[in-house]
Amino acid sequence: MAKYEGSCGCGHVKYAFEGEPINAAFCYCKECQKHTGSDKWFGLWVPKDKFAFTKGETKSYTRKGDSSKDIHHQFCSRCGTTVCVEVTVAGFYSVSASTLDDSSHFSPKMAIYTASAPKWAVFPEDVPKFDILPPEFS
Ligand SMILES: [Zn+2]
Ligand SMILES: [Zn+2]
Repeated sequence: MAKYEGSCGCGHVKYAFEGEPINAAFCYCKECQKHTGSDKWFGLWVPKDKFAFTKGETKSYTRKGDSSKDIHHQFCSRCGTTVCVEVTVAGFYSVSASTLDDSSHFSPKMAIYTASAPKWAVFPEDVPKFDILPPEFS
């Protein structure tokens, strides 16, 4: 089974997951804009039981998602890089593709929360765009 590894900016936190993500999405919601400092978050949706932290400690920040269920942002306590976000309502981690050691295997399959995107957002070509979430995930 394929195994993927990644880390935060300073290398204190490392993680790994196995198998292919259930989705790969550019998320343009306001929270993703804030915690990436850009127009979007490239999230790889990895089932919770396939993901593990392998080194270091994360701090977490918890907020309520649209579902009113908790979303836990996991970030490095030293450099502040958010490596993943736990979406408790659906039982998966949205792993930051940007933090993978090698992200060349992945490309976005959809763009979500595009209704919240800033005017200067850059959208991927040839993938479906959803104002919020696609019907099968909402
Ligand atoms: Zn770090
Ligand atoms: Zn988002």
